[in-house]
Amino acid sequence: MVKEGVDEDKTVVILDGKIEQIGSRQEIRFPKGAKRIDAKGGFMIPGLFDMHLHFYHDYGLAEKYLIEEVKLPVVNGVTTVRIMDGQENYLALKKRIDKGEVTGPEMFIASPQFVGKWPFKGKFSGYMADSAAEAGNKVAEFKKLGYSEIKLAQFITPSVYEAVTTAAKKEGIKVTGHVGPDVKLYRALHARQQIEHMDEFIEALLTDSTINNGKSVSDVGVWNKKTAWPTLQYVDESRIDALAKRVSDAGIYVTPTNYFFINFFARGATGEQVRNMRGYDYVPAFHKKNVNASQEYFWKDPPPEDWRRKYIAVRYKMVDALYKAGTRLMAGSDGPEWYLAPGFTLHSELEAFTEAGLSNFAALETATKNPAMYMGIEDRKGTIEKGKRADFILLEKNPLIDIKNTRTIQAVFMSNKFYDRKALDKLLSEAIVIGSVAVGEE
Ligand SMILES: [Zn+2]
Repeated sequence: MVKEGVDEDKTVVILDGKIEQIGSRQEIRFPKGAKRIDAKGGFMIPGLFDMHLHFYHDYGLAEKYLIEEVKLPVVNGVTTVRIMDGQENYLALKKRIDKGEVTGPEMFIASPQFVGKWPFKGKFSGYMADSAAEAGNKVAEFKKLGYSEIKLAQFITPSVYEAVTTAAKKEGIKVTGHVGPDVKLYRALHARQQIEHMDEFIEALLTDSTINNGKSVSDVGVWNKKTAWPTLQYVDESRIDALAKRVSDAGIYVTPTNYFFINFFARGATGEQVRNMRGYDYVPAFHKKNVNASQEYFWKDPPPEDWRRKYIAVRYKMVDALYKAGTRLMAGSDGPEWYLAPGFTLHSELEAFTEAGLSNFAALETATKNPAMYMGIEDRKGTIEKGKRADFILLEKNPLIDIKNTRTIQAVFMSNKFYDRKALDKLLSEAIVIGSVAVGEE
C-alpha cells in the first residue's frame, strides 16, 4: 500500500523481520527452507498506528495487568502505539516488548502529561506543572528518561506554555497534546505544537458577539452544558476554510479523536449500544462503573439536539477542510477513555474519518503513513515496501470498499513475529482477565 488501489497477486518474502522481496510469484526467488503462508484472496495493509492511547493503569488498574493489556492492540492489527501520559513503568514495559519478552505493539511514550491544576474527583495522573521554571526544567529530564515527546494536558498557563515550548525547542523534542483556553490556538500554531482533539478549533470559529468570553466546548469545556454548549450558536462555519489554511501553514499534525467526542458527547450511545461495543468485555468492571456514572451525569440533561448536531457537523467539516488544505491527520482513539477498549476503537476512528468525507484510502493513511512520517520512522514503517519492516496485517475483506473491513483481521505480522487467527484468539482469551477486575488498585 503506497498508492491508492489494490496490487494483485503479490508475494512478499520476509527475511530477518524485513521485507526482502515483493513482486509477482514469477519474479520472486524463494529462499531455501522458507516457510510459506497462503494469503490467497486476502488483503494486506500496513500495521495500524493508534496515536492517542492510554493505559487502564492511569485509572487505577494494577500494574500486573499491563502485559495483558498490550496484547489487545496487536489482536486488532495495531502494531504501533503512542502512549499519551507516560510513566517510568511504561518505559520499562516498552523495553520488555522491544526485547521480545512481552507480546505488544511498538510503543512511543510521551512524557507524563503536564497539568496546570486538578479540580476533578478522578485519580490524578501526570506531572503538576504549576511553576513555569520547574516545568521548563522537566523537559530535559523527561527527554533523558526516554520519553518521545512532551505531552501537555489541561489548565496550562501561558507562562508554563512558553517555558515548556522554549525548553523543548532547545532540547530537540516535540510538544504534543491539548490546547487550553488560556493558551489559545494562535500560540500553539506559532509554537508548532502537535494538536490533539482539535482543541480550540471551534473557539477559533466563533463570531465576536459570542457569549461566555469565547470559551466553547473544546477539551473539558465539553462538560459545561450551561455556558459552553450555547456558544455553538455563534459558530461561523464560513470561517472553517481560513482556519484550515492557518493550520496547514503551520505545518503541524492533528489528531482529531472524533469518535470519542462525537460518540459520547454528541450522539449519546444508549446502554445497549455501549454493551454491544467491540471490546466492551475487556473494559475493567471498576472502570465501567465510573464511566457509567459520568455518562449518566452528562446524559440525564443533555445539550439540545440541534447544538449536538452542529457540534458533529462542525467537527467533521473541520477535518475535511484540514485534509483538503494539506494538513496531515493522524488516527488516535483516546482509549481506554470511557468504554474505548485498547485496539478495538482505533477502527471506529477510521470510520469517523470517512464520515467526515475522507476516502477510505486517506483514512487508512491517518493510521499508517502519516503517523510513521510524524514519528520519523517512515524508512521502516507506514507502507509495505522492500526494505521496510515486515509490519502488516492480512484482512479477509477489502478496506477500500468498506472501511469497516479493517476489522476482518486474519493475521498480524510484526517483524519476525507472526500471529495467525488462532494465535490472535489465544491472546484475546488471555487478556479477558482485565474485564473482571472490580476494584482499581494502586
Ligand atoms: Zn488522551
